[in-house]
Amino acid sequence: MTKTEQLDQIRTDILKRNVCPNLAEQATNLVMGAGDSDADIVFIGEAPGKHEDEQGLPFVGAAGKFLNEMLASIDMSRDDVYITNIVKYRPPNNRDPLPDEKEVFWPYLLRQLLVIEPKIVMTLGRHSMEYFLPGQKISQIHGEPKRIRFGENHLIVVPLFHPAAALYNGSLRQTLLDDFIRIPKILDQIEHL
Ligand code: URA
Repeated sequence: MTKTEQLDQIRTDILKRNVCPNLAEQATNLVMGAGDSDADIVFIGEAPGKHEDEQGLPFVGAAGKFLNEMLASIDMSRDDVYITNIVKYRPPNNRDPLPDEKEVFWPYLLRQLLVIEPKIVMTLGRHSMEYFLPGQKISQIHGEPKRIRFGENHLIVVPLFHPAAALYNGSLRQTLLDDFIRIPKILDQIEHL
């Protein structure tokens, strides 16, 4: 099976097993992710919002527009990376995902990562960061590459603030832009490890 087929299989499994029925009932679409199934970089947000639910694609609203701009600032586009969320259905009224909602989707996120085998995982906001870097404070470690154990291997995780949080906060916006600019160098260093 190709990587794309393996990712499709994860979607099929979520639907077949009726994962998170409470959210599924109210959602229009299951939002698995988008981009290159063989990407070096995977971005992980929190959960789909209204536009994402309608279109079945991650980060297509205002936060997504900012994410696109940041990717362009490092000469990348959405097609060069893979973008997903920890929770794959929209929580009603865009409330924060609940702990058990994150928990039930976590194994599927891990499967996505095992298929894609990225060099770096960039977490967007604290909901996805806390699974990879438990007990850490995003304000203290944002932008810093962290090496974690991942199954039998290691994975580099770079925690970033969530683009939605930065939309209306000028200084956070600048922090996020500054962290983004460092991505190509981090990738380059990993490639020469
Ligand atoms: N915010 C997220 O965390 N994910 C999306 O897909 C959109 C907005």
